[in-house]
Amino acid sequence: MTVKNRKISKNSVVIIIMSAVWLMIVAVIIYMTLTVHVAVSERKIPVYRVVTDEKKVAVTFNCAWDDSTTDSVLHTLKERGVRCTFFFVGDYARKYPEDVRKIINDGHEPANHSDRHFSPSKQSYAELLNDISNCNDTVKSLTGKECRLYRAPSGEYNNDAISAAESLGMTAVQWNVDSIDWKGKTPAEMLDKIRTKTVNGSIILFHLGKKNTAEALPDIIDYLQDGGYSLVTVSELLPDGKYEILPDGAAKETADGSSAEYEKK
Ligand SMILES: [Zn+2]
Repeated sequence: MTVKNRKISKNSVVIIIMSAVWLMIVAVIIYMTLTVHVAVSERKIPVYRVVTDEKKVAVTFNCAWDDSTTDSVLHTLKERGVRCTFFFVGDYARKYPEDVRKIINDGHEPANHSDRHFSPSKQSYAELLNDISNCNDTVKSLTGKECRLYRAPSGEYNNDAISAAESLGMTAVQWNVDSIDWKGKTPAEMLDKIRTKTVNGSIILFHLGKKNTAEALPDIIDYLQDGGYSLVTVSELLPDGKYEILPDGAAKETADGSSAEYEKK
């Protein structure tokens, strides 16, 4: 080997080593970027509220217990010209079919609160899919309407529950204002809760079958309407265009042409 050749091969080795080092650095950067991305997108979250400049909120009712307050609640809503979203448990709908029809005939939006109110964490993906579908079928057979929204029992979301709902073309919806009517709070305490927690785009949680809810509702609706809030259904509240769900569960409309993951169903 000549001196010149030796020099060339030495240079080649240096170039090969440097290239290898660069390739490793690039590989590490790509790996870290992917890992961070996966970590961020791993946990799916439902919509807790909607980001909006408009003074509008959605009042929602979970329907899992009994029919003792249905007429009173519907009367209050009709008197004030308010349409809400009612999340039915399949078992409830089969037990009180007339109530479900009455609610939907009044123009309220039907939604899905599971079929049996079993905890999502105790069900497989296939079981969740079956459970959500069964509730949809029950509501459809009673009202002719499709449920576009799903609320997990006890707000206990996991990725399987959200993915199962999404695979059925539905949006998973939580709430950001809990009236805590289920804890037996007084109407005054409930109104106070609404007063301090409600913001534009809030989704407010109530339950059917709670006496204090029926009692508190007229004052709460009056408070919201007097404060300039329009009361709309959850589907009306969701952004019209594509949107992303921020880490705190706020659905935020994105600019035109964005590749945001969500769109109103
Ligand atoms: Zn529930």
